[in-house]
Amino acid sequence: MKFPIYLDSQSTTPVDPRVLDEMMPYFTERFGNAASIDHSYGSQASEAVDKARKQVARCLNAHPEDIIFTSGATESNNIAILGISLRDSTKNHIITCVTEHKSVLDTCKHLETMGKQVTYVPVDKFGSVDLDTLERSISEKTLLISIMVANNEIGTIAPIEEIGKIARKHGVLFHTDAAQAAGHVPLDVEKMNVDLLSVSAHKMYGPKGVGALYIRQHYPAAKPFPLVYGGGHEQGIRSGTLNVASIVGLGRAFEIADREMQDEKNRYEKWTKYMLNIFHDEAYPVEQNGHPKNRLAHNLNVSFEQVENKALIHTVREKLAISSGSACTTLNVEPSHVILSLGFGQVRAHTAIRLGIGRFNTEEEIEFAAHFIVRAVSRLRRIRLDNLKNLSSIS
Ligand SMILES: *Cc1c(COP(=O)(O)O)cnc(C)c1O
Repeated sequence: MKFPIYLDSQSTTPVDPRVLDEMMPYFTERFGNAASIDHSYGSQASEAVDKARKQVARCLNAHPEDIIFTSGATESNNIAILGISLRDSTKNHIITCVTEHKSVLDTCKHLETMGKQVTYVPVDKFGSVDLDTLERSISEKTLLISIMVANNEIGTIAPIEEIGKIARKHGVLFHTDAAQAAGHVPLDVEKMNVDLLSVSAHKMYGPKGVGALYIRQHYPAAKPFPLVYGGGHEQGIRSGTLNVASIVGLGRAFEIADREMQDEKNRYEKWTKYMLNIFHDEAYPVEQNGHPKNRLAHNLNVSFEQVENKALIHTVREKLAISSGSACTTLNVEPSHVILSLGFGQVRAHTAIRLGIGRFNTEEEIEFAAHFIVRAVSRLRRIRLDNLKNLSSIS
């Protein structure tokens, strides 16, 4: 086994060697600009981008012309939310959810400073969005609903089809951040009634710095205003010379994921169940964060009672690469806004760790990790108990 074992797949994933192979020629001999198609260098690049667009579209049940390439899900979310608000000044209300990724929440907060109104719908103890509150929040001023498919910290999957139906019924646009879901659960923009959908390559074994935004083009109201102006690339919505190699990687990553998704899901389900059982048997009390069933198979988020997450992550650091939650919140000591919103209080948030399984983990690694975490939990609880005893003997 190679240490530390990587178990942070919701933060990012390595590039699959098959994806890298496909990308490599586009850095060197096929370096053409996809917008300079007067010669074969350019047309080769342009054809590669077209192929990737088809690969992405196929996996979302979308038309290729409904896909634009971006620098990742952060940018896709910004284009969707800001770009739609800029387009329609008659409506000033957006509905989102308290557990969204910062790239949605901070974009919405920015819109509030510009005079827009935002409703942040709460979630239940499993992290599922409250559909009644969501529907009751809709008014004639509502422009857009933005609710993620799968949560990046706790793995809860939202009832996207139902939300899409509600949005459609009230004539409101529906955007979904599918950064964690793409390549891991089947997505279908028609079935889900989605008008805009964001994906990111590096959460699904593609390169960092590339993503896509699905835009329902035959529904003109769903076309966002650009945030970046220039050469009119990507239907004028996202100017800038296309990152051909990365786009080729994104397309290939989708193609591979589409084929292997089901097998991976079965494997991950077995492994997360195994880890949960070990934790229950040998590191009780432990609580699972997120929905027990409607969830990403490759995510496990648990709180070990009396074990601070920072201490646990630090203790196992040599052998295991795990984290407490979203990469953005790892930089500061604030407890996770996602775990807090489940309503269990501060302690639950300060004890939550996230285990993100990936394509290249082995059964051996999962077994090692489960037992290694159990040992670290026992040790940290013992130290805590010893400290308490010492304190009481002093007083
Ligand atoms: C990673 C992630 C993002 C940001 O994607 P980038 O491509 O890194 O900008 C947005 N939303 C969710 C749910 C994510 O997990």
